[in-house]
Amino acid sequence: MSISLDLASGKAALPETRQSLIGLTRAEMRDQLVQDLNLEPKQAKMRASQIWRWLYLQGTKDFAQMTNIGKDLRNTLEKTYALTRPEIVEKQVSTDGTRKYLIRLAPGIEVESVFIPDVGRYGALCVSSQVGCTLTCTFCHTGTQKLVRNLTPGEIVAQVMILKDDLNEWGGTAQVQKEGGPESGRHLSNIVFMGMGEPLYNLPSVANAIEIISDPEGIAISRRRITVSTSGVVPEMKALGEQTETMLAISLHATNDKLRDELVPINRKYNIETLIEACRQYPGVSNARRITFEYVMLKGVNDSNAEARELVRLLKGVPAKINLIPFNPWPNSPYECSDWDRIEEFADIVNQAGYASPIRTPRGRDIAAACGQLKSESVKQRASEKRLAAKKLTDTAAEL
Ligand code: SAH
Ligand code: SF4
Repeated sequence: MSISLDLASGKAALPETRQSLIGLTRAEMRDQLVQDLNLEPKQAKMRASQIWRWLYLQGTKDFAQMTNIGKDLRNTLEKTYALTRPEIVEKQVSTDGTRKYLIRLAPGIEVESVFIPDVGRYGALCVSSQVGCTLTCTFCHTGTQKLVRNLTPGEIVAQVMILKDDLNEWGGTAQVQKEGGPESGRHLSNIVFMGMGEPLYNLPSVANAIEIISDPEGIAISRRRITVSTSGVVPEMKALGEQTETMLAISLHATNDKLRDELVPINRKYNIETLIEACRQYPGVSNARRITFEYVMLKGVNDSNAEARELVRLLKGVPAKINLIPFNPWPNSPYECSDWDRIEEFADIVNQAGYASPIRTPRGRDIAAACGQLKSESVKQRASEKRLAAKKLTDTAAEL
């Protein structure tokens, strides 16, 4: 069972014409103030720093509350810039505490983000980087939705701000923000780019968003608690490491090219050997900063003991963690999840090779919030409308 709230107001909001400050890096915000308000660069830097703390430390949504900024400048800021978050169309809370948000970025353009308590240090937010995905991994629901567009840095950061609004995790000092923890009433400690989309096909926005989210004077989530998952866009992996210094996860899912070509079609471009070599070269990789290899458990497809042994052999010498993900089914998905006994036997082999507790417990299944189940409601609706239209057509045909 889950609780679902429909938060759409039903009223059509006036289109926002002011530029949003959310999503600009510190340097961009400073330059914007110089350009739009004719401030001296030094002044602009100081003002950007004040605004930054209000936005990302206090979660302020209104310039009027920025009391250390003079009234005249506040009025000008108000006229020039917006601080609004995108609209939450629907919020669902699972019995296990997982929260899923459907966020409307523009009419017909929606993404989902999911908060999973007790994952990572205190709790992890799974963010989307694209609306849909251009890749077509056969086990992934997002892959059935064609790409609508890349998200902007502001749209990625807004997913984090919406969660912090909802959990009431704003305020306090940068230190409180950074340390967090249940005793300070803060539960968001980690960010994973494992929602909709392929983050490495939107690296400039993802990198800017990470710069903002990790800034110690704001949301302050350390780069080591941010993980970017890729299906294997090899040419962008080095740049990801250099620009973001974040942790890397690889959606491996198969141990031979023939099967991976089928499950994760980007493998036809960058095969397993090339991918593993790029992992060895990932900037900053070490035993203290291991790469996570995700492996979805598909019944009778990739879950044999021989494949478990092959997985271990393949990752020899790579500082790695292994994450076995029970397959999350979606309507008409062509696979089944491996039986629990099978997953455990597979995990035992991986365990014996020295990888600790590799099975990822599915979370939020009751609200379709688990990996690979994400797909915009808008598209689902369009699909159901299409089905309805098709039914009407056949009904009509039957009547003829
Ligand atoms: N595009 C990126 C990140 C988003 S997918 C990537 O592919 O890595 C996040 C993770 O969920 C990936 O490991 C993906 O392979 C996995 N996944 C997708 N569909 C799934 C499903 N139905 N069940 C379980 N895991 C799934
Ligand atoms: Fe895209 Fe990742 Fe899904 Fe593959 S698994 S279709 S890359 S979102």
